[in-house]
Amino acid sequence: MSKQRIYLDNAASTAVDRDVLEVMIPYFTEEYANPSGSSSFSANARSAVETARDQAAQLIGASAGEIIFTSGGTESDNAAVFGVARMNGYGSGPDKIRRRRIIISATEHPAVLNPCRELEKQGFEVLYAPCDEYGFTDTDHIKRNCDAGTALVSIMSANNEIGSLQDTGTAAALAHSAGAVFHTDAVQAAGHIPIDVRKDDVDLLSISSHKLHGPKGVGALFVRNGLKLYPNVFGGGQEKGLRSGTLNVPGIVGFGKACEIARISMDRTNACLLELRNIFIKLLTENIPGVHINSCMEPGKVLPSILSVSFDAIEGTSLQIELDMKGITCSTGSACASSGGKPSHVLTAAGLSDERIRGSVRFSFSKYTTREELEITARTVSECVKRLREILG
Ligand code: PLP
Repeated sequence: MSKQRIYLDNAASTAVDRDVLEVMIPYFTEEYANPSGSSSFSANARSAVETARDQAAQLIGASAGEIIFTSGGTESDNAAVFGVARMNGYGSGPDKIRRRRIIISATEHPAVLNPCRELEKQGFEVLYAPCDEYGFTDTDHIKRNCDAGTALVSIMSANNEIGSLQDTGTAAALAHSAGAVFHTDAVQAAGHIPIDVRKDDVDLLSISSHKLHGPKGVGALFVRNGLKLYPNVFGGGQEKGLRSGTLNVPGIVGFGKACEIARISMDRTNACLLELRNIFIKLLTENIPGVHINSCMEPGKVLPSILSVSFDAIEGTSLQIELDMKGITCSTGSACASSGGKPSHVLTAAGLSDERIRGSVRFSFSKYTTREELEITARTVSECVKRLREILG
């Protein structure tokens, strides 16, 4: 990252922490053995993987044996959704169970939405629980609809566009009262807020390394001890047979270190981020007319690192491009390639007007974000918004 660039797109991806990079390097060039081998050389790599498993487990209050390493959040979400569906007779799964309903929140990431859409084509019924204006899922919808025919309830821990934190404990209890499995996509939450899979009684939980200052292409699926899940990838039987394939040792080592750093520094980082976010909101709202904060402002109900803002009478995309040309990176809604220019499904579900959705921009911060960067950004946003409004008349 060049020094001049101001990077406010940390919900899309984060910079790898230098300490993380440092622990990874030997596993490319020195300790490169296959961790599944029987030599003592392999044992070193295996031991590093097991340390990382422990570090990932500690971040979410799990035990190491419940962590399955994957290639990231998308794979973990797919493994959870299809794994439960296959246990219920989809594809080649055992036919005897046959629960065919899935309940997810309307604001899920495409990594959960699209596997569910695929399952709809296979005869599953998918219900989309609505949300309020800040994206908080209506748990009464789950209560009304979760029944003996429900296989899975999947409610994300934190939303990637507006940062709302969901009541996963209540959602899990409702799922379990009907005998359904509970999954949460914690890709934005893990490493950012405390997570306790035991307290919330979670069965499956997805994590991605590159959202918490680890490398890309690695993540984990927490699979509660005793939960029966259909495998995602077949092959040599690695990861308890749930996800075959030679392990990405340097990536896993880096991911583990990133989990450890995030766990230790979480409280301090969050206190700083909350302060910075509030300063940024003040600068924007005091200096620019027609600004709307789409994220909930109540501390404890939202990630301090994600802020969705709408500007009256401009296109968020135009603002994002203008800011990019001035060296400031942010995004419009989700950075996901599959949105295809369509209005954000999250802001739509939150009931925002078309104009407000069109004028929305997401700023997302990290432990590397400084007050000076936010002051520069607020000034630049103010100039760009003024200019764009003048052009549009
Ligand atoms: N789930 C959420 C909530 C996300 O924000 C993302 C990435 O933006 C993903 C899943 C996908 O994770 P990955 O990029 O590791 O595949």
